Amino acid sequence: MYKDNHLVAQLRAASFDREMDVFVQGQGGRTFGAFFANAERYAALLASRGVQAGDRVAVQVNKSLEALELYVGTVMAGAVFLPLNPDYTASEVAYFLQDATPRMFVLDPSRKSEMQSAVETANVTQVMTLDATGGGTLKDAASSMPAGFAPVPRTADDLAAILYTSGTTGRSKGAMLTHRALASNAETLVDYWRFTPDDVLIHALPIFHTHGLFVATNVALMAGAAMTFLPKFNLDAVFAAMPNATTLMGVPTFYTRMLQDPRLTVDSTRNMRLFVSGSAPLLAETHERWTERTGHKILERYGMTETNMNTSNPYEGARKPGTVGLPLPGVDVKIVDSDGAELDVDQIGSIEVRGDNVFAGYWQMPEKTAEELREDGWFVTGDLGVRDSDGYISIVGRSKDLIISGGFNVYPKEVEAVIDDLPNVLESAVIGLPHKDFGEAVVAVVVASDPALTIEAISVATSDKLARFKCPKIVLIVEALPRNTMGKVQKKALREKYENLFR
Ligand code: AMP
Repeated sequence: MYKDNHLVAQLRAASFDREMDVFVQGQGGRTFGAFFANAERYAALLASRGVQAGDRVAVQVNKSLEALELYVGTVMAGAVFLPLNPDYTASEVAYFLQDATPRMFVLDPSRKSEMQSAVETANVTQVMTLDATGGGTLKDAASSMPAGFAPVPRTADDLAAILYTSGTTGRSKGAMLTHRALASNAETLVDYWRFTPDDVLIHALPIFHTHGLFVATNVALMAGAAMTFLPKFNLDAVFAAMPNATTLMGVPTFYTRMLQDPRLTVDSTRNMRLFVSGSAPLLAETHERWTERTGHKILERYGMTETNMNTSNPYEGARKPGTVGLPLPGVDVKIVDSDGAELDVDQIGSIEVRGDNVFAGYWQMPEKTAEELREDGWFVTGDLGVRDSDGYISIVGRSKDLIISGGFNVYPKEVEAVIDDLPNVLESAVIGLPHKDFGEAVVAVVVASDPALTIEAISVATSDKLARFKCPKIVLIVEALPRNTMGKVQKKALREKYENLFR
């Protein structure tokens, strides 16, 4: 159990007295001392602009160290950090600003005029800028503020951040994350993944999402570990960083792209002790090929915006390809049927989780919260999973992606696994499309790794290995699958694109 209510006290505990550079970013780094002093200046600035405990500070900026300092400074000021993907358009931002009613909005200076009407409609009075190099009105104003701001006291139940979910269905929801949820999860991960001040983490993830903001940043800060902070994932930069780094946290696309690069060898990964993957499924094949090439076993874990991290393959002990491992200490995980009854080993059901890591509900959506977060603390993740006899959990899809064809349940992952196993297949996405006889029909959208791939080869393999109701009615070979920035395949986009295939 973590010791202090305040997330910032937790984050700085390990790094407080350290002199060394904490971040290396092309032009150099920052000491921990300088990092936290800058965060204090941001906190002092926010307070001087009327930001009070519990106020939201919305931030839509490119990745920079200053943006991270602003995150820590916002939490120091007792406020609630609300990061937004820089790709969001003005109309999307208008929704977030109206929904969250932040006291302050920090944005890239190049987007000021574009966002003007969103800012006015939402009545946001404090608007400041921060660009990708860390310049802007926010930085200018903060530079003249004194360091030494004492964190505004908060309880463990107070909010530290709101992260909007990627909104695969309906309106995007603001997940309210408490100091307890963030601090306890980071503390668990530091321990579980053996982070120490000797580590150097390659940080190549975006910082508007739970993976890059909380898993990567909070863990490194809390462990007092250094980070090589990259503006984004770039193969040259990652290969250049690895000889001096010890760990990498990535989405599966990092790993598939690195596998296509001849620089990935036992030698180039010699200094590394840990590769973590999450946010989207890592193919067992990727896991195995990585081990063949480097001798390292990728550690896959499973989490989500609402819950932080839930399960992880162990640091010591078997890391099973295609699984997301075991429940983390302090996190309860159960797999239940549609009546909520717990299922046996090897039976597919809905994943529910409970623990300090779980969020406090959706911002201003009590009905949505009540649907998904039960009073006894169990959160209905919307993921479908199965547990093996060793307790390892595998994710077999989202409940929304479950296909019901002719009254039979088809789990997309099962069909995808058969297709992905074929020669000349890079990857696949199996979706259900409206069909007048079957309700939904199974359709496979496949990306070839070699033009020799034929639709017939796929159809033969699926009918050999799968019951008839699971076999795709149509197979489409496409150039690429639609993905979001976190590497997740956008099945919703595929369903929309092909919705009239059987009409
Ligand atoms: P987000 O809230 O954007 O982080 O998305 C969370 C969702 O990503 C989860 O509910 C899962 O569906 C998916 N996810 C995260 N990690 C994994 C993983 N290791 N394997 C499969 N799906 C994952």
